[in-house]
Amino acid sequence: MSIVVLKLPDVKRSTEERPRQCPYCAGITFQRWGQVNKPVKDVRVRNVQVYRYRCCRCKRTFRHYPEGNTRADQTERLRLFAVLLWTLGLSHRASSWILSGLQVRMSHMTIWRDVQGETQKIKKRNHWKPVRVLGLDGAYVLGWGEKQPVMVAVDMGTGEPLTVGYINEYDPQAIRRWLEPLVHRHGITVIVTDDLSSYKTVAEKLQLGHQVCQFHVRRWVGKTLKELQETIPKEWLWVLEEIHQLIEVLPPDGSHTLYALWKQLPGRRSLPSQARSAMEQLRDLLLRLSEHWHSYCTFQSEPEVPWTNNSTERAIGRMKMRARTVRGYKSWPGMESGLMLAGCDAG
Ligand SMILES: [Zn+2]
Repeated sequence: MSIVVLKLPDVKRSTEERPRQCPYCAGITFQRWGQVNKPVKDVRVRNVQVYRYRCCRCKRTFRHYPEGNTRADQTERLRLFAVLLWTLGLSHRASSWILSGLQVRMSHMTIWRDVQGETQKIKKRNHWKPVRVLGLDGAYVLGWGEKQPVMVAVDMGTGEPLTVGYINEYDPQAIRRWLEPLVHRHGITVIVTDDLSSYKTVAEKLQLGHQVCQFHVRRWVGKTLKELQETIPKEWLWVLEEIHQLIEVLPPDGSHTLYALWKQLPGRRSLPSQARSAMEQLRDLLLRLSEHWHSYCTFQSEPEVPWTNNSTERAIGRMKMRARTVRGYKSWPGMESGLMLAGCDAG
């Protein structure tokens, strides 16, 4: 949300700058054609001076507004200020009430329209934007009475959210249906995710490159190795050390090394109905790492691909901060607006 704070635009009371182009015919020479004093809604400015111009080419007249003003009653600054209040977690009504304390009358319906308008702007700006590497992560956000599953897609080039979907991250079919049009429209070639199996399925189905966040991998592999250290026979401890080294260094041929280790281990002895022994758990770990290895190392051959999904997690963190203050959204359009506005942060 700091983007909104930093970018609250200036509002000029008047301008001597002449228009650059006729809004009707793109002509470039004008005559001044009078002036009007326009009352505006703003936190500081009460009215602005607006010149009228007449185009020498098409003879039509138009108003030329000083910076920060449009034909709307409210200035750009007030519009974004109202959106900011809402983004910080106030309701439309509470935002309207705060503004009345600053002696600005703005109905909650106007604020609602401004918020929707700002979200539409972001959506429009994002619609055809080229995005090569996309970060994906699921989150739960309070809405209409319970936690709702959302999926957040972040442009890894900028760290800005591209879009959010009402999608459960455990449902590969739903992710695929939602992701496929995005892949085509934005030209996405690689996704960055945690190592939930649904992402692996989707990446394969859509033939996307895949980078699995190495913070996640190190965390769960570290935990598994620690557990196995207590349970496997001492003569096999060196295998754990090998795995640890491989994860640290991420050599491109790690998959083969892991597979070779797997082959050295004794085969499965327990029945399918029995709990797996510690050695069998180690075998499973080797196999899983070997199979997923290429998706750990994509970043090594593609410089635009990060090796963690941090940008996505940061965007989700900003979204959740606002979700906490609103104590739950009432509908998906409201949630979508809230998440997108709160997730943006160019500052
Ligand atoms: Zn003209």
